[in-house]
Amino acid sequence: MKVLILENGRLFQKILQDLLVELGCTVSSVRTGEEGLKFLLDTTEKTKFELIIASQHIFDKSGADFIEHCKNSDRNTPIILLTSEPNEILLKNARAAGIKDIFPKTNLTYLKSSIRYYIHGEKNFDIKGGKVLYVEDSAAVTHIVTNYLQRLKLDVTHFSNAEEAFHAFADNDYDLVITDVMLEGTMDGLSLVRMIRATNSHSAKTPVLAMTGHDDAQLRIDLLHAGINDYVTKPPIEEELAARVNNLITNKRLADQVRQQQLSLYNIAMTDQLTTCHNRHSLSDFAPRYIKDAVRYDYPLSIMILDLDHFKQINDKHGHTTGDVVLEDIGKLLMTTCRQGDIVARIGGEEFLILLPHCDIFDAQHKAENVRSMIEISEPGGLTVTASIGIASLISAHEEDFDQLYKSADSAVYHSKENGRNQVTSDHASLQAFKLPQASNE
Ligand code: GH3
Ligand code: MG
Ligand code: MG
Ligand code: MG
Repeated sequence: MKVLILENGRLFQKILQDLLVELGCTVSSVRTGEEGLKFLLDTTEKTKFELIIASQHIFDKSGADFIEHCKNSDRNTPIILLTSEPNEILLKNARAAGIKDIFPKTNLTYLKSSIRYYIHGEKNFDIKGGKVLYVEDSAAVTHIVTNYLQRLKLDVTHFSNAEEAFHAFADNDYDLVITDVMLEGTMDGLSLVRMIRATNSHSAKTPVLAMTGHDDAQLRIDLLHAGINDYVTKPPIEEELAARVNNLITNKRLADQVRQQQLSLYNIAMTDQLTTCHNRHSLSDFAPRYIKDAVRYDYPLSIMILDLDHFKQINDKHGHTTGDVVLEDIGKLLMTTCRQGDIVARIGGEEFLILLPHCDIFDAQHKAENVRSMIEISEPGGLTVTASIGIASLISAHEEDFDQLYKSADSAVYHSKENGRNQVTSDHASLQAFKLPQASNE
């Protein structure tokens, strides 16, 4: 931000300069209104100031032309006035000159934090490119508000009725919804807000700014109850709208950041670092959900447990690092052979588990045989490795309990080991349960 300082005290000028530079501003300093005016009259790029910080002597005689120029200039550069002894006349002059921000010079800490806040608050680079869904049925208001929003460099999508707006809302990710209340069509702004808040996804929390008439106090209360974040009265004042939009989108961006961080922490907590498969812990999250869905929508669910054969010997013979490469390669192989929706987890040192929704015991048998032979021929880590596999499918005997399903597949692994390793065993009860309905059809 380019800032012009107008201050006659050298020490204070230096303090301000240092603070502004620290805040990332480019600073020019002058001591009198006359010098300042020269800067403002110079219309080259160099002097396009975005903020002027002036001490109260600007209202002395030498500053009169400077103030007059600022008032009449179409650049509208905001001025912060620093006062050492505020008084009625000074405040009146400031108001007449269109100066809105007046800070006392006497408390330096307060002054510094005020300027810091002012500069960061003024910056709206954070909201640039923000996606706004704007619902308004008056063409005139739409024209004005869209211009305001575009000046904030926002990407505006406009609808004149709530039905179409809601469809667009459901299909897109917006940073802000701005809605009029009285709208053409069968749905008003209040219903739109309620529908947005009832959406079953994170977009239900999208900030909503309502535009209401001046005398609609009850309506505003209803809107707040329905979940709007803020409102402006119509016709909106550009600066007020900009400030509210800035706050809402900035908060939305912060909330997005937190959600993103939560998501990546969740992913880290659920991932096995060596193989990038899911880890054992993640099963306590996924398995009950997979079981619940399979029961609710009545589709088969199987699990496959794999235990690598004589893995200890691989470590002993080739070293732990090679052992790790074998595990990594097997993890990759399992992940690439699985369908979307399958969950591949490393549940122990050299044990893996795969959750297979929409897969009955016969499909699981086929799949397990496939995996077994691929492990045997793929030479993970450059070595010949085999696995013993056990499979089981969710049946009523498991009482919708993952631990019981797990035990069935685990004892099938034990049988594979007992019978000579490098083979697939199906849980007997699962096989029986899946064979029975077919037998009764015959
Ligand atoms: P079995 O065929 O009966 O399953 O024999 P096994 O040697 O595979 O089984 P056992 O349980 O005796 O040994 C498992 C080995 O896996 C021992 C352990 O050192 C190794 N292991 C466990 N976690 C890791 C790991 O993260 N990296 C490596 N390299 N080895 C691991
Ligand atoms: Mg309307
Ligand atoms: Mg083991
Ligand atoms: Mg083993």
